[in-house]
This record gives sequence, structure tokens and C-alpha cells, in this order.
Amino acid sequence: MRVLFFSSQTYDQDSFSNTPASHGLELHFQAARLSEGTAPLASGHEVVCAFINDDLSAPVLKRLAAGGTRLIALRSAGYNHVDLTAAKQLGLAVVRVPAYSPHAVAEHAVALILALNRRLHRAYNRTREGNFSLHGLTGFDLHGKTVGVVGTGQIGTAFARIMAGFGCQLLAYDPHPNPELLALGARYLELPALLRQAQIISLHCPLTEQTRHLINSQSLAQLQPGAMLINTGRGALIDTPALIEALKDGQLGYLGLDVYEEEAQLFFEDRSDLPLQDDVLARLLTFPNVIVTAHQAFLTHEALAAIAATTLDNITRWAAGNPQNLVEG
Ligand code: NAD
Repeated sequence: MRVLFFSSQTYDQDSFSNTPASHGLELHFQAARLSEGTAPLASGHEVVCAFINDDLSAPVLKRLAAGGTRLIALRSAGYNHVDLTAAKQLGLAVVRVPAYSPHAVAEHAVALILALNRRLHRAYNRTREGNFSLHGLTGFDLHGKTVGVVGTGQIGTAFARIMAGFGCQLLAYDPHPNPELLALGARYLELPALLRQAQIISLHCPLTEQTRHLINSQSLAQLQPGAMLINTGRGALIDTPALIEALKDGQLGYLGLDVYEEEAQLFFEDRSDLPLQDDVLARLLTFPNVIVTAHQAFLTHEALAAIAATTLDNITRWAAGNPQNLVEG
């Protein structure tokens, strides 16, 4: 069975090619992002393996189905970028990797917190230039601070466990409270109350119609002045331009983003020799209290191995008529 990977990077080729379950499948890797223009490349491939910034809208799915594709195997947990109604109408099955390493993403969120708090990005640049001044590098103890976890599924729970280990007080917001968070001593609150009480807020909910722009100018106004906001969920959880005003007037004291609403045209590529066309991102990158990483929270050896193993298992199980991890609209 022929499988075409879109948006593939060398680390994808390594992890998929080194997985024993790949035997029997013919894996083809394309660096191109899936779009209406590149969809014809999949002609003759029964399976398309796609990542988070691939375009899986109705017109693209239509082209894939016309070329003989029957299965979309997402090598991601999130599936907000797939038009599931169109997929169903076209007879395309969609599978995903519901959990590969919640620790990878949770630990990256913590890395952003620590780097922002202790200004590691500034200290790194200073000492390399022979500047050993500590001016402007004062941080705060995490111990005793209040952390708000928005979305307490697998990643939010892994994150909460780590922050509890630092001695933080936990607040949580999720329509489906998780007993494990309660066991860690977390208090579930409505979102406005969480935003008012937490000094650090970390987003771990999926992107849905309910969560789109969950953080906007109104919710930013509810924060404690100088609060820290971390987003490793999805870019569109935040109305990004609203962040700029909140950073300018100090309402937002620290911002760590691993995801960005308009990341699809930018992330995963080296664009360092091109002028940055995105003015909102360009402005965000000027703030000394902002760190942006290019959707790398998932990128650990353990997560890549688990993504490859589950994706290939999803494909072989589907081919055998015994599908798992199906996504249905
Ligand atoms: P999960 O399904 O285990 O947990 C999601 C939680 O969000 C659930 O408890 C759910 O009840 C809650 N939720 C749903 N709607 C909500 C709302 N309106 N407000 C608050 N909470 C809500 O998912 P997960 O594995 O923990 O992943 C969470 C998200 O992290 C994914 O949807 C994905 O977008 C993102 N993610 C990012 C990366 C990365 O590399 N940056 C990697 C993997 C996942």
C-alpha cells in the first residue's frame, strides 16, 4: 500500500523508516505542504499522511479522493484542520494519534515558563557577548505562585503535575473536571475567575468553535497585571493582535507561544533570509518578555517514535478492516 507523507521533515523520515511496522507499506515523503496545488502529488496513493499545517479543507479532500486516496492518517493529535463533514461525504476515513507523549508538550510549556521567568534568552545572548551584568534579569520564585491550567486532558494534567512539584497552587478550567487534578489539590473555576487569580496561565484545550479566541482583549483585561501567558495548544485560541496592546501597557508581563494563529505559512521552514511579512508576529518578536518557538513542543525522540508507531499501526489496522483512532465529525 502506497502512503504519501506531506510536510515531511528529515526527522519524520527517520522515525517512520526506523519503525518495524513500516514493513509492507510503501512510504513516500514529500516536503511540500498539502494544498489544492500539491494534492495531485498524492494521485495513486491510497493513504495520505498529513501534519497540522496541511490543508485538509473540502476542495483539497475532493482532489485527494479523486486521485484514489481512501485514508487520511494524521500524524498529530489535533484534527481541527480537517473538514470532517467533507471527508465523510467523500468516503475518506480519518485517523489520528490521540496521545503520543503528553510529557513532551507539558515539559515544553514549563521550559517556556522557566526561560521567560529567569530571562534565559537574554542571559544566553549577554554572556556570549561578554556582558555579565545581571541588570533586568530578576525573576520570581515559582514556589507558592498560582497557575491556571485551561484544559485538563492529558497534556494539561501532565503540566499540572509538574507545576504541583514546584509548589504552585493549581486552578483549572475545563467543562469536564478531571479527578486527577482534584487529587493534586486543583480548584476548578470558571475562566474569568481563573484569569483573575492566576499569575501564570497555560492553554491546553483543543481548538474548537467554543475555544477560538478564548483569549482576547476582554479576557486579557481580566488578568492580574504582569501575568504570564503560555500557549502550546493552538494559535487561534488567542486573538493574537490583542496581545500586542496587553504587552505594551504591561497588563501581560510574559508571553510564551509555541503556536501562532498564522503559523501555517511560516513554521517548520528556514525563512531567515527572507523579510518577515507578518507584521503581528514581527511586532511580537520585538518584546523582550516574549518567546516564540515554532510549534516544537511535540519534538522529542519519544514523541516522534510514538507518533510513527501509532500512525503505522493505524494504517495497517484500517487496511485490515479493523480501524482504530478514527476521527468522526
Ligand atoms: P485531551 O483531549 O486529552 O484534553 C483536552 C481537554 O480540553 C479535555 O479535558 C477537554 O474537556 C478540554 N476542553 C474542551 N473544550 C474546552 C473548553 N472550551 N475550555 C477548556 N477546556 C476544554 O487533549 P491533549 O492531548 O491534552 O491535547 C490538548 C491540545 O494540545 C490538542 O488539542 C492540541 O491542539 C494541542 N497540542 C499541541 C502540541 C504542540 O506541539 N504544541 C502537540 C500536541 C497537542
